[in-house]
Amino acid sequence: MIMTHDAAALKAREIASRVLAPSAGQNDKAGQFSTEAVKSLGDAGLLGLLLPVNVGGAELGPRTFAAVTAALAEADASVAMVYLMHVLGTATISAARPRAAQALTPILQEIAAGRHLSTLAFSEAGSRSHFWAPISRAHRNGDGVRIRAKKSWVTSAGHAHSYVVSALAPEGVGPTDSTLYLLSSGTRGLSVAGPWDGLGLRANASAPLALDDCEVPLQFQLTDDGGGFSAMLNVVLPLFNLGTAAVALGLCRAAVAGTTSHLKSAKFEHLGQSLGESLPTLRAQLATMQIDTDGLAARIDDLIEHLEKPRDTTMLRVLESKAAAGDVAISVTSTAMRVCGGAAFSKHLSIERLFRDAHAGVVMAPTGDVLREFIGKSLLGIPLF
Ligand SMILES: Cc1cc2nc3c(=O)[nH]c(=O)nc-3n(C[C@H](O)[C@H](O)[C@H](O)COP(=O)(O)OP(=O)(O)OC[C@H]3O[C@@H](n4cnc5c(N)ncnc54)[C@H](O)[C@@H]3O)c2cc1C
Repeated sequence: MIMTHDAAALKAREIASRVLAPSAGQNDKAGQFSTEAVKSLGDAGLLGLLLPVNVGGAELGPRTFAAVTAALAEADASVAMVYLMHVLGTATISAARPRAAQALTPILQEIAAGRHLSTLAFSEAGSRSHFWAPISRAHRNGDGVRIRAKKSWVTSAGHAHSYVVSALAPEGVGPTDSTLYLLSSGTRGLSVAGPWDGLGLRANASAPLALDDCEVPLQFQLTDDGGGFSAMLNVVLPLFNLGTAAVALGLCRAAVAGTTSHLKSAKFEHLGQSLGESLPTLRAQLATMQIDTDGLAARIDDLIEHLEKPRDTTMLRVLESKAAAGDVAISVTSTAMRVCGGAAFSKHLSIERLFRDAHAGVVMAPTGDVLREFIGKSLLGIPLF
């Protein structure tokens, strides 16, 4: 039976409350990747959410992807980011050039069956947040290529079954002449090159990955030579920006819920009132959090509408949405920290995890600063690259 939008969103909420919420705090503390969460998402058919029906996918669109991602993020943003990177990896594999179809179809079927987790390995130590300009170069190796690279942050590193990897094309001349390849986790020379101990999103294993002369056969070349940049821009960027905005929305909703609950339950016993009953300033700050959260939800709806019916302003919306979402998440969770005071600061509530997780959004590339640079340049008619 084909999954509907409502069924997918319901499954995501059910997994969020049954699997993610009970262990989010502990996994954050321990920096523990949740294989249980990935298994639940796979069993529910959510790993193949955007894949075509002919490989077993649900063939749903950006609207459902955003709803599922936001629901997961409300319970555990680390898992939501694992899911987001998986969906991006999957979309890139699915959009691969036709000559790779025979080799890739069994992988897409495994993904749709919930048995395969993928991710993106773009960022490199050398070009940092400028993921569109890899330093590594693929070298011809018979029909295929050989790649040596230092990938600096890879979500789900060591847990994914495959990695969508960028490298400069063998004969590429410019800094963005990249090609995308699919490497299985068992590829000789591929290894996790260090631990992940971030400020936030601590349970998503965003560790560095080393590619030590990894051999990639021709059938796992996803784009034409030099076609990586176009895939990054047209396949990855819109979904990534939508997904990170959805993660931000989930974090904001969790912050509003957590703050509301604290303002209702914490008491000034000497006054016989809850914090919320007693202090108008706290009510006003809670209201601002709610207004900003709903504003972000409206922005995400607008972006989805643009992605469903592309038009001249679509790329601008794609850029704006991630830039705005990152700032809103930081602002809303910062206000939550302030409103919940010492209880939040001393980690008695989950608010401080939301606050830390919210800071990843602006750091993840394209960063908030880079997005502003792109928007400003495009308004002024200055070339972006
Ligand atoms: C939790 C997490 C998960 C991640 N997962 C992945 C993943 O799965 N795959 C992947 O490929 N990468 C991933 N990354 C990497 C991420 O996308 C960025 O590449 C990385 O965080 C950038 O790091 P940096 O601060 O060294 O960048 P830098 O380039 O050193 O940026 C430093 C500062 O300079 C600013 N800056 C840089 N360029 C410009 C510019 N042109 N204009 C204005 N300001 C600029 C930035 O905004 C930033 O404030 C992940 C990162 C994090 C934190």
